[in-house]
Amino acid sequence: MTFSELGLDDSILEALSYMGFEKATPIQEQAIPNILEGKDLLACAQTGTGKTAAFILPVLNQLANKDHKKIKALVVCPTRELAMQIEQQIQGFSYFLNVGSIAVYGGGDGKDFVQQRKAIERGTEVIVATPGKLISHLNMGYVDFSEIDYFILDEADRMLDMGFFDDIQTISSHIKNKHQTLLFSATMPPKIRKLSKAILNNPFEISIAISKPAEGVLQAAYLTYDSQKSALIRQLIKEKPTYESIIVFTSTKKKVGDIVRALKGQGYQVQAISSDLQQKEREDALRKFRSKETRVVVATDVLSRGIDIKGINLVINYDVPNDAEDYIHRIGRTARADSTGVALTLINQDDMPKFKKIEDLIESEVMKVPLPKELGEGPEWNPNYRGSRSGGRSNYKGKNSRRIGKKGSGKHSNSKNKSKRK
Ligand code: AMP
Repeated sequence: MTFSELGLDDSILEALSYMGFEKATPIQEQAIPNILEGKDLLACAQTGTGKTAAFILPVLNQLANKDHKKIKALVVCPTRELAMQIEQQIQGFSYFLNVGSIAVYGGGDGKDFVQQRKAIERGTEVIVATPGKLISHLNMGYVDFSEIDYFILDEADRMLDMGFFDDIQTISSHIKNKHQTLLFSATMPPKIRKLSKAILNNPFEISIAISKPAEGVLQAAYLTYDSQKSALIRQLIKEKPTYESIIVFTSTKKKVGDIVRALKGQGYQVQAISSDLQQKEREDALRKFRSKETRVVVATDVLSRGIDIKGINLVINYDVPNDAEDYIHRIGRTARADSTGVALTLINQDDMPKFKKIEDLIESEVMKVPLPKELGEGPEWNPNYRGSRSGGRSNYKGKNSRRIGKKGSGKHSNSKNKSKRK
């Protein structure tokens, strides 16, 4: 279905055509007419489905050709990166419209807060905000939500995981006039059902096949001891000189630092992105990665959800994510739209049961590739592995077992080093 068949305003159609959007994606086909009809929406859809345009286009359509100068739509999302990205998309879609937007998030200096305050007081039509910073502004008393027509929650499951349930209720309680609420979530656990009961009114429901990695991602996995991982990622990156953009994901901030150190000095730019960085540093790092100045980024799951960077060739999971859905998000960073990409996961023994759960979720077995010879043998695949302390290493029979065994029980040993997940 084309966007003009969806009845969107000419100015929006023109912007879409400039952006190279030809056909609506399934979620856009389903969501846009229902939002235009005034319904609340509960949508189960992951990033990469085109969900941002699905909620923003009908909102912009209603705002087109009118002069409001009031806050008409509020988008709340979990991270500042996502807030910035959504706001940038809004700027693109509204290029030929007289609609203003601003991203409201924390982490900047005091000047940012003052600028955000000014924009809020001026009455910018669309606000994209993270919950905490929005509440800081709400508490100051100058936010006028009296004309809000659309309240949109994006990545709602992530926000609840981050402990924002009460904040969302607080924000919702500030919107007193009649409005439409649109809730987007990658998963539908009971807590999302609970939230949707509290804030949605007889919603139209859409579920876009989740839990399936994008087609076009070639997935493979290496069974490794922790002590082999640094050498393995060095080799994987070295072997692929034509890959311009590579992301290495890991679950903790500490490991981000370890991996960056392991990769430094290889003759290409490596950059860490985790919540340890100042906001400005994170923005700089993302900008350089987008512009291909930085070839390799090492990140925690800060980047795995929602961030849209074009042309990533390779995603390496240095460890298996704790949450099976995060695997799909992580590998979804590659092969966006119609392109192809490679996703490689390093699995130690402790992570094998977790990886099996991922395979169950995606309903397919990921190919286990042998380690390069010079790294020695890795562990055997044992999805029922019960932990190193129960003697599970005994199935390791590689000729370098003593050497690797010693290193493996040292500082990189995963089982001893499970610091809190970012
Ligand atoms: P999202 O799921 O909103 O994060 O979108 C994923 C990517 O798909 C973004 O780069 C969008 O710009 C792009 N996109 C969304 N809708 C379309 C469409 N109808 N045609 C082409 N690209 C699209």
